[in-house]
Amino acid sequence: MNITHAYAAHDAKSALVPFDYTPRVLRDHDVQINVLFCGVCHSDLHQARNEWSNTIFPVVPGHEIVGRVSAVGNHVSRYQVGDLVGVGCMVDSCRSCPSCEEGLEQYCENGFTGTYNGQDRQTGAITYGGYSTAMVVDQDFVLRVPENLDPAGVAPLLCAGITTYSPLRQWGAGPGKKVGIVGLGGLGHMGVKLARAMGAHVVLFTTSQSKVEDAKRLGAHEVVISRNPEEMAQHTNSFDFILNTVAAQHDLNPFLNLLHRDGTLTLVGAPEHDHPSPQVFNLIMKRRRIAGSLIGGIAETQEMLDFCGQHGITSDIELIPMQQINQAYERMLKSDVKYRFVVDINSLRA
Ligand code: NAP
Ligand code: ZN
Ligand code: ZN
Repeated sequence: MNITHAYAAHDAKSALVPFDYTPRVLRDHDVQINVLFCGVCHSDLHQARNEWSNTIFPVVPGHEIVGRVSAVGNHVSRYQVGDLVGVGCMVDSCRSCPSCEEGLEQYCENGFTGTYNGQDRQTGAITYGGYSTAMVVDQDFVLRVPENLDPAGVAPLLCAGITTYSPLRQWGAGPGKKVGIVGLGGLGHMGVKLARAMGAHVVLFTTSQSKVEDAKRLGAHEVVISRNPEEMAQHTNSFDFILNTVAAQHDLNPFLNLLHRDGTLTLVGAPEHDHPSPQVFNLIMKRRRIAGSLIGGIAETQEMLDFCGQHGITSDIELIPMQQINQAYERMLKSDVKYRFVVDINSLRA
């Protein structure tokens, strides 16, 4: 296959720079994808800067990928050249452990293969992500993108969308349920849209006064400034479920206080440093729970894309050329993104 143009980080301290590589030769079940758009997830920044202490450099981030199929392997049955497809955070898993057999590949007991910073299960080669003009992915980890949606706005669904959809479904967001979403960033704004479409009463918690009106436009019934104790107190003991998307260490107690008996606070934000341990009495007196959730399985990701197709849901994006990725990272750190950067991959073809 031809050279792929990409952007990579070569170490934790320096900016992303142009990087060329040759993707693997098409295997029998592989799909070759001409990448069109790639969302910019906070996880890309965490990994480019080695904040999770597991980055293999050079790293080509990007796991919110939309493109068109440009070639297929000999035994590909599910896709044809020209199909609009997506790739999320995983490109393979062991396929035989109990989690894989249940369609929960993200919890593969032998470790799923990350779209980037992962290791090819056959060759051991390091995987490169969607900040690239082309990719080669096994058909079983490729998603079908509804053609009625704007493909640039679909890209963030492949991570931000599924990472919020899966726990909202798992904890039963729907009519009659009061659901909180903490943080109005890439994940949070998808959480608001999806929880609203599922029929829940949605309350958005933000630290940014400037996002209040937007949160309502995006679907929140109520908005709370989480740094204001009086506003928080009005919701004490009232939530069924709170989804916390915050990308930085913070005190969980103010949110635990808002759960009613048997309510759950689920963490999806993955900060560099752990949150301080919450107060034990805050949990035991009301049988409250703290949980975690990781993206979603392949079947559930397809279900989420179809749900978004039916409800006309996409991400609110700011389209940028690849050459602006380093400035985009700095703005993301300041919570200055409305509400997801998406890279126009054509900027790498010029
Ligand atoms: P993002 O766009 O940067 O949004 C994070 C939001 O958190 C910000 O917009 C801000 O919202 C809030 N926030 C940031 N710093 C804060 C602070 N110090 N105190 C309180 N609130 C703060 O990030 P993202 O792409 O949505 O990702 C969020 C986190 O989820 C990241 O850690 C990412 O790695 C993780 N993640 C996890 C999974 C998973 O499977 N579990 C998947 C994808 C991403 P306000 O301005 O509204 O306060
Ligand atoms: Zn992500
Ligand atoms: Zn497995």
